[in-house]
Amino acid sequence: MKELIKADIDAFKTHFRGEVILPDDAGYDEVRQIWNAMIDRKPALIARCTSTEDVVQAIAFGRTQNLLISIRGGGHNIAGNAVCDEGLMIDLSLMKDVQVDVATKRAHVGPGCTLGEFDAAVQAYGLATPLGINSTTGVAGLTLGGGFGWLSRKYGMTIDNLLSAEVVTADGRQLHASEEENADLFWGLRGGGGNFGVITRFEFQLHPVGPDVLCGLIVFPFDQAKQVITQFARFTETMPEELNVWMVTRKAPPLPFLPEDAHGKEMVALALCYAGNPEEGEALIAPLRGFGTALGEHIGVMPYLAWQQAFDPLLAKGARNYWKSHNFAQLSDGVIDAIIEYAGKLPSPQCEIFIGTIGGQTTRVAPEAMAYSSRDACYVMNVHGRWESADEDADGIAWARAFFAKSQPFASSGAYINFLTQEETDRIAFAYGATWTRLIQLKNKYDPTNLFRMNQNIKPE
Ligand SMILES: Cc1cc2nc3c(=O)[nH]c(=O)nc-3n(C[C@H](O)[C@H](O)[C@H](O)COP(=O)(O)OP(=O)(O)OC[C@H]3O[C@@H](n4cnc5c(N)ncnc54)[C@H](O)[C@@H]3O)c2cc1C
Repeated sequence: MKELIKADIDAFKTHFRGEVILPDDAGYDEVRQIWNAMIDRKPALIARCTSTEDVVQAIAFGRTQNLLISIRGGGHNIAGNAVCDEGLMIDLSLMKDVQVDVATKRAHVGPGCTLGEFDAAVQAYGLATPLGINSTTGVAGLTLGGGFGWLSRKYGMTIDNLLSAEVVTADGRQLHASEEENADLFWGLRGGGGNFGVITRFEFQLHPVGPDVLCGLIVFPFDQAKQVITQFARFTETMPEELNVWMVTRKAPPLPFLPEDAHGKEMVALALCYAGNPEEGEALIAPLRGFGTALGEHIGVMPYLAWQQAFDPLLAKGARNYWKSHNFAQLSDGVIDAIIEYAGKLPSPQCEIFIGTIGGQTTRVAPEAMAYSSRDACYVMNVHGRWESADEDADGIAWARAFFAKSQPFASSGAYINFLTQEETDRIAFAYGATWTRLIQLKNKYDPTNLFRMNQNIKPE
């Protein structure tokens, strides 16, 4: 552990209004823990910021003390970049302010907000912007990597709805970034993954959504996987943009609408959300039921806010998680066969392969218009390895890697940086794709010493 001089910490505390937590302090273990229990790192100190000024002070302390710095938003990053060993963890999770301007349909959001907190604040006015599918994920990290969810086909990636951001740079400047001001920095924030500074406030465009939407699950037996996934692949190519359908294959949890003898057995589920008039949605989703003979379904009109939390129980904090991911422009027979092969040998009851469908609005932005360049991706696959004990690591990791390799020939360009694990440093340039060279130039300008390197790192040259 880096030796920090008590006098230096005391001096820092006189300027810092938030809480400073040291390894011997109560709460240290709780605050350093993140979503993925595979990551167990011990920072030398944790600065829990309550304002932009706190962020400025924390960055200055880290820089002058030559500390490795990590930034924590929601703490969900699979690679565990929110927490570092022996350095300074800048924890933004207390900065949860959300301000909604109903007239302009805009929201200003603090960097500690979770998706659930943001959704709740704006759904009070029947508004939303595309976010992910698990309400405890952080808005900050999700946005900086791109961000996608149920609304993305209609309204684009989360970054397509980012209007501006307040940023503290490595040298302590406070900058406003938008299309009009510091436009190069704004370009980099939209997919550059926290490489260019610490965002203390996001401004988003909102859209009328719900508050009730047609959504739910249809579950098919695994022996119908080929016909179900093949029809899912064709259906999602032409479905209207208000509709989104994702596919997940895993062992069935004990869902009350499934027959008991299906619990714990492999299955294929289609999860759907129609973000338009629910009555119109009913006709549009009818063909999905004909993809096979369903084991059960749970579909209805429910608050969008509830649907945004529907998967939380399966994604709770504290399990060991190992992910691999590919983008796909289409789902070919080859990848469908690979999915079925590896879903047939899941190493644990919590492992799953899911295909998140995007497309529509997400593909209408030019690949080099923002740092996120995977505009040809219509499906983002997550090979979600998940289990409880370290004894299961070897089998689970081997399964995820083998399936990743088998499905690689069918993948399209780029990869979602928010799904990369800590070991995938050799994939970073590929993941950023077409914007890589420009990202390095931007890093040279805004963070030439690579102060912010606990991320999918763009090294200055
Ligand atoms: C269960 C689960 C479900 C998910 N579902 C989706 C989904 O549906 N759609 C989707 O798009 N993604 C999804 N993700 C991926 C998610 O987008 C990433 O894990 C993201 O990094 C989480 O952001 P966070 O703020 O919670 O993470 P953190 O771990 O806190 O932060 C991740 C990284 O972002 C950077 N960062 C965070 N805050 C700031 C800031 N204010 N300024 C500068 N840099 C910052 C830092 O580099 C940090 O290491 C999911 C993840 C999980 C675990």
